Amino acid sequence: LASPFATLPDLIRAHAAERGAKTAIADERRALTYAELDRLVDRVAAGLQRDGVPQGAAVAIVAYPSVEQAAVFLGTVRAGCLATPIAPSATPDQIAAMIRDSGAPLAFADAANAAAAPDAVCLEELDTWLPPDDARPAPVEIAPEDGFNIIYSSGTTGTPKGIVQSHAMRWQHLGRNSAAGFGDAVTMVATPLYSNTTLVTFLPTLGWGGAAVLMAKFDARRFLELAEKHRATHAMLVPVQYQRIMAVPDFDRFDLSSFRLKTCTSAPFKPELKADVLARWPGLLIEYYGMTEGGGTCVLNCNAHPDKLHTVGQPLDGHDIRLIDDEGREVAPGEMGEVVGRSAAMMNGYHGREGATREAEWYDGEGRRYIRHGDVGRFDEDGFLILLDRKKDMIITGGFNIYPSDLEAVLLRHPAVADATVVGVPSEAWGETPVGFYVSRDPGANIDAVLAWFNGQVGKTQRLSALHQVDELPRSAIGKVLKRELRDRLLGQTA
Ligand code: ATP
Ligand code: MG
Repeated sequence: LASPFATLPDLIRAHAAERGAKTAIADERRALTYAELDRLVDRVAAGLQRDGVPQGAAVAIVAYPSVEQAAVFLGTVRAGCLATPIAPSATPDQIAAMIRDSGAPLAFADAANAAAAPDAVCLEELDTWLPPDDARPAPVEIAPEDGFNIIYSSGTTGTPKGIVQSHAMRWQHLGRNSAAGFGDAVTMVATPLYSNTTLVTFLPTLGWGGAAVLMAKFDARRFLELAEKHRATHAMLVPVQYQRIMAVPDFDRFDLSSFRLKTCTSAPFKPELKADVLARWPGLLIEYYGMTEGGGTCVLNCNAHPDKLHTVGQPLDGHDIRLIDDEGREVAPGEMGEVVGRSAAMMNGYHGREGATREAEWYDGEGRRYIRHGDVGRFDEDGFLILLDRKKDMIITGGFNIYPSDLEAVLLRHPAVADATVVGVPSEAWGETPVGFYVSRDPGANIDAVLAWFNGQVGKTQRLSALHQVDELPRSAIGKVLKRELRDRLLGQTA
């Protein structure tokens, strides 16, 4: 090995040597064994060196999940560059801005994204860019603290920030998953590779020698068909995907008995939905709460704690989570505060944004670095974290703090309400005031009646000043409700 420790591509090389004929990765068009994947990863790394892409540079990849996308990602890492997968769901302007921000001298894009990245190497024609079959990259020396990838944050609360994750941080994720049995796993990868949500399952699958099945685009029924066909053992899905899968009318007809572990992260996961998954889908259900930046991760084993489904669980081993107030002081036990967390898995920083990096940090009395999560929560008497909301989404009305999640839970109790969210908008009288949005399951439902019902259920300060019906809530590709967009829509209307 060139490096003093084994990088993820080194582990792939070791699997190629020991079990080269085993399937490593498949999409709906083709499958690669470990030997084939290793060779392709080598050719990508050699191609980057041929093109003069220096170690430490970002390489942008704008694509839907595919074997080629994954190979370019891994080849970039093998060349000592930072894999920088970018969301194809973003607008062409946003994609161009992220590529610029990353400083990538070279980009790859699939045909569907060619317009957004006109200078990119086309993934469908990767063969014409790749060096010959037997090309091998010159060895590069990689240190644990070197960058592995850049992940752009979802942009749920602002402009996406490039989060630099190191080899050491990835190594932590790999170790954390050692108990998850990835060695003989068949992992369904149904979320995009530009999200950390995906990478924390996909990369350990390859690191431990399992097989990954990639879906280019998620479809609930197709997911079930593929999982059954491949006898899938593992899946990481986001809450909206669970919701859609559980709503497939003949869900119970699919044979999912091969499943050992299903995980969920990235957005609030309703307790009733967790209970439904527990009841009808075999295997463990584990929820993670954390952020791409790293810091403190909480884990909830839903099977072991069916009475704690309203929480996101307890801090993972080695993860120190504290709650702080607006002045940066730790709150008393049982009180709510902003989540800050510290662990061996923390980002190096935001790419090119020292100010934003500093704002995301909190230091305890002994000068130890924590990452601010921007979420508000409290620990229950058993040490399980109950998340209330994102700090930025909290509404301060007439001096009272209200949490949109509380109001959303009430709205969802109305029989005509299929989906709902609440945002704060500026108000002259109150500073801010809550406004609701809902998706109706009953075309005949009357908005005024739903609003009147809602305002009868809650305290005076929590009353909605307006309620709007929408066809669907705007969500990011990974399923997060984009409250910012709803707020902008309202402000645009009144301006
Ligand atoms: P941005 O920082 O650009 O606004 P983002 O915070 O949505 O985007 P991520 O790092 O992908 O980007 O998401 C982390 C956030 O997702 C957490 O701070 C939290 O608000 C939310 N989250 C993650 N896991 C859970 C969970 N299990 N339950 C509820 N919310 C979660
Ligand atoms: Mg964030």
